[in-house]
Amino acid sequence: MAEKVIPLADHRVRASVPRVPDQWRSPDGPLSDRLGRPLRDLRISVTDRCNFRCSYCMPKEVFDKHYQFLPHSALLSFEEITRLARLFVAHGVRKIRLTGGEPLLRKDLERLIEMLAALRTPDGQPLDLTLTTNGSVLARKARALKEAGLQRVTVSLDALDDALFRRMNDVDFPVADVLAGLEAAQQVGLGPLKVNMVVKRGTNDHEIVPMARHFRGTSIVLRFIEFMDVGATNGWRMEEVLPSAEVIERLSAHFPLEPIDPNYPGETAERWRYRDGGGEIGVISSVTQAFCRDCNRARLSTEGKLFLCLFAQQGHDLRALLRAGCTDEQIAAAIGLIWQDRGDRYSELRAALQADTGTALRKVEMHYIGG
Ligand code: SAM
Repeated sequence: MAEKVIPLADHRVRASVPRVPDQWRSPDGPLSDRLGRPLRDLRISVTDRCNFRCSYCMPKEVFDKHYQFLPHSALLSFEEITRLARLFVAHGVRKIRLTGGEPLLRKDLERLIEMLAALRTPDGQPLDLTLTTNGSVLARKARALKEAGLQRVTVSLDALDDALFRRMNDVDFPVADVLAGLEAAQQVGLGPLKVNMVVKRGTNDHEIVPMARHFRGTSIVLRFIEFMDVGATNGWRMEEVLPSAEVIERLSAHFPLEPIDPNYPGETAERWRYRDGGGEIGVISSVTQAFCRDCNRARLSTEGKLFLCLFAQQGHDLRALLRAGCTDEQIAAAIGLIWQDRGDRYSELRAALQADTGTALRKVEMHYIGG
């Protein structure tokens, strides 16, 4: 039998060690990149492991028992994460989202949440601290997360049809347990709650209306995400992308909708509300309506690499600075230089880049960089 080949370049090694400038007049303070975009939102991947194998994210054929996840020593410690988070807050970050992989699989995550919840902005405000989860262990953990200082959660759920959901997560996980997680989160006050549904044409697009019907009239905001070409393993094809405009069209046939203003500049979801007062939904259209020009997000990978775009090919190794004994001022200065040099706008350039190279660029995997 032919030997198994894992068709993955190890993107984890593709990172440069950031330059620490000798002279930096203001290592702290808000930043602006080359396109005038501030740094506001930091997503931190706390583990590259997940207990689901959704084909659009961590397909079983690649992420099987032979796949080598990061060893514990490679991961940023909670102290390292918190130290970096504090420097990012000084540079303007106001929102931190923990993600992964499946963040609730990271041992003692509550301790990290406590540490992050204690951070304050320069004017003394707490951060907007949230987490994205597949909900599989949320029912068990919701209370401890809330008590540690987590404010809210976003739960991913791609279908209500149990058989379809089990197929999509590819580990036979039942819908009922995710719904129980949502209920527990609601009970302990982890809100406002959001549910993310990745829509793949031909796979779960017939679940759009049932999902909307299920969450209408609850305080839970359902958001439809276009299937994205993240990573290099999910076999992405444009034919499987169902444009958000079509989601709105299909929903409008059942429940009249009207657009509403964003909560803040750079919000990823475009918001709509039911005209009859049944609440709101969101659509995230990073394929068909790129929103790079307002993107104020940075991503910190599981092993401490800073990525400036979900579709990046390379990161900046902040862990190297932490473990080389750099001071806070030096690391803050390095982050400042990196952000000021940022010009990424992959989603806007997607079509042109693919035509240029004849193929998609090799990008880092989402479970590692953090969704
Ligand atoms: N395990 C957590 C979860 O399931 O929410 C957090 C990590 S997951 C990578 C974050 C989000 O990214 C999930 O809502 C997931 O559905 C979404 N996602 C992953 N791959 C995607 C893709 N190719 N296109 C669109 N969304 C994707």
